[in-house]
Amino acid sequence: MATLNELNIAEVKLSAEESGKWGMVIDQDICTGCQACVAACAMENNLSFVGEVDAGYGRSMHWIRIERFWEGEYPEVRMTNNQPMMCQQCGSAPCEPVCPAFATVHSMAEKINLQVYNRCVGTRYCANNCPYQVRSFNWRDYERPEPLPNQLNPDVTVRRRGIMEKCTFCIQRIHRAQDQAKAEGREVHDGEFTTACAQSCPANAITFGRMDDPQSLVSQLAKRRGGMHHLEELGTLPNVTYFNGG
Ligand code: SF4
Ligand code: SF4
Repeated sequence: MATLNELNIAEVKLSAEESGKWGMVIDQDICTGCQACVAACAMENNLSFVGEVDAGYGRSMHWIRIERFWEGEYPEVRMTNNQPMMCQQCGSAPCEPVCPAFATVHSMAEKINLQVYNRCVGTRYCANNCPYQVRSFNWRDYERPEPLPNQLNPDVTVRRRGIMEKCTFCIQRIHRAQDQAKAEGREVHDGEFTTACAQSCPANAITFGRMDDPQSLVSQLAKRRGGMHHLEELGTLPNVTYFNGG
């Protein structure tokens, strides 16, 4: 079999540089599974309503979902804690190298994974290669019945048929806070803004902020004992830390 060198494909190097600038901590012990984050994310990011038929085909659009599993052997079976799951903003993202149109890219400035909608040609390779299954595809030009068009967020592009999309860590909020701080000649303060999912969580189970600031709340929380990264054995370098059973 041909080696990577023979195929002239660059070997993926995992380095400290690929650690994130922004990160998230999720405490599953206090998440109640209320789905407020799912609704807030959909409204903030102009997610489409796919309707009953497409939902029946498993084509629902959401950038965050609440997972729950069964554990134990019958009759000692119980449900696990709720697990909010969204793009883990991998430092070494498997979705990126498989995109033939460079639509799935790593932002060098923000060190997160972004989707360039007007480059996407809809192959869905990225979704197939994401081990977290957090990308959503627009199978149609979905209609927004009245009065839903009135609540579209003008800071977020609407997507059309054939385009892949996923969580951006609310990049529009990051840019707004950074622009404001720059205009005032200062750095963005920790806690000055947060993502829609973290903002809407009534249990404060989601914390977002600068991972490259050792003093930030999210950095401090991530360093507590017992934190884990999903599927980190794959070398994806996720930027979301989970606490469960602490
Ligand atoms: S979680 Fe999936 S979509 Fe997000 S960066 Fe990682 S591989 Fe890509
Ligand atoms: S960070 Fe923003 S885009 Fe990502 S799941 Fe939360 S609300 Fe949605």
